Amino acid sequence: MLATDQGKDLQKKDERYIWHAMRGSAPVSGNLIIKEAKGAWVVDIEGNRYLDGMSGLWCVNAGYGRKELAEAAYAQLLEMPYFPMSQSHIPAIKLAEKLNEWLGDDYVIFFSNSGSEANETAFKIARQYHQQRGDHGRYKFISRYRAYHGNSMGALAATGQAERKYKYEPLAPGFIHVNPPDVYRNPIDEHTLESAHEVDKVMTWELSQTVAAMIMEPIITGGGCLIPPQNYMKKVKEICEKHGALLICDEVICGFGRTGKAFGFMHYDVKPDIITMAKGITSAYLPLSVTAVKREIYEAYSGNEQYDRLRHVNTFGGNPAACALALKNLEIFEDEKLIERSQVLGERLLKELEELKDLPFVGDVRGKGLLIGIELVEDKESKKPASVEIVNKVISACKERKLIIGKNGDTVAGYNNILQLAPPLSITEDDFTFIVKTLKESLRSI
Ligand code: PLP
Repeated sequence: MLATDQGKDLQKKDERYIWHAMRGSAPVSGNLIIKEAKGAWVVDIEGNRYLDGMSGLWCVNAGYGRKELAEAAYAQLLEMPYFPMSQSHIPAIKLAEKLNEWLGDDYVIFFSNSGSEANETAFKIARQYHQQRGDHGRYKFISRYRAYHGNSMGALAATGQAERKYKYEPLAPGFIHVNPPDVYRNPIDEHTLESAHEVDKVMTWELSQTVAAMIMEPIITGGGCLIPPQNYMKKVKEICEKHGALLICDEVICGFGRTGKAFGFMHYDVKPDIITMAKGITSAYLPLSVTAVKREIYEAYSGNEQYDRLRHVNTFGGNPAACALALKNLEIFEDEKLIERSQVLGERLLKELEELKDLPFVGDVRGKGLLIGIELVEDKESKKPASVEIVNKVISACKERKLIIGKNGDTVAGYNNILQLAPPLSITEDDFTFIVKTLKESLRSI
């Protein structure tokens, strides 16, 4: 509850005028109204400081308060604020080239504004790609339960979280779900890889010639930080090839150092056909997203006849200020070695948090880079997911101690039991110590 008159007034107006994400109209206590931020810390209107252990929504990868990012956008706005991407401009060209360097391969870049849009774009490109090659029956997409791919009708259809979907159905048709690997519950033999075989079976049963693509995050993030067996993604790619389907890799969260590599797929020795990115590309300072497409796919759109080209446009995608800011953001990543930092700090964090498994309700602590999940259970024997109430208690205990952490709920039916931690990759040693101490204290206080 806000104590000052100014705080109370803002809270009243906030409740009156803003429809918040994932909320109904009943006021929610403890809603933070943030007025400034620096590094990993955010400050509310009454001066309370919190360490943002979620980097917003897994997105402020370079940390808050980077003056040089604001300056890059400002300079570009003064020079040339907008031109549509049906033609071109310098920041977009430079960024597309830089992304190719980061990807280490030959990709053509389509710009949009959000992760959802990047995924929608990928679906359209994949469907038309097959048609361009005379393969007219491929329209289905395979995706996985528990994964989130966005809020629009196609991206939500790809999402495997029924609690987000069922009030809005029917969504876009043609999306089929398979199980993701859940190594904590089913320690799969690397050679068997049951959940990869499920992709194979489902593509066969659906008829290969109807399947356009598989979409997957390298590591399911919001759906519960599910680290797959090491061979899983490579196996899935082989299966896609066998069935003539494309592999779309959703790097919206995993990209830009979150998992300790530039992109999540780089852990798994695969080259996706299409890669979608958003969030960390600008460290969320401005909206920007990307659908990166392997050159062979682009080249199938060889003509510029009316129905031979990609009939897809958006007004704001590739905004020059957002592209200029993204370039500066990537420069910061390189100068400060933020990707390596994510990997090293992530490993240290996992080691530090390992001891929490002594607690009867902590089933698993896992992660890659600064993407960490703590799975709470009713008991370790049955591994039955803990209740949302326990998860909320831990989150509140952290917040009382000025640490913001996240959860994967209340959207994954039956599995709303995983705490999420994803601080900026730029956290200091003091921040690191604070996170470890606060998490341990909070979990032990339950
Ligand atoms: N894909 C993944 C993996 C995400 O986590 C999200 C958002 O959290 C999206 C796509 C959608 O991105 P946006 O919210 O920018 O539309």
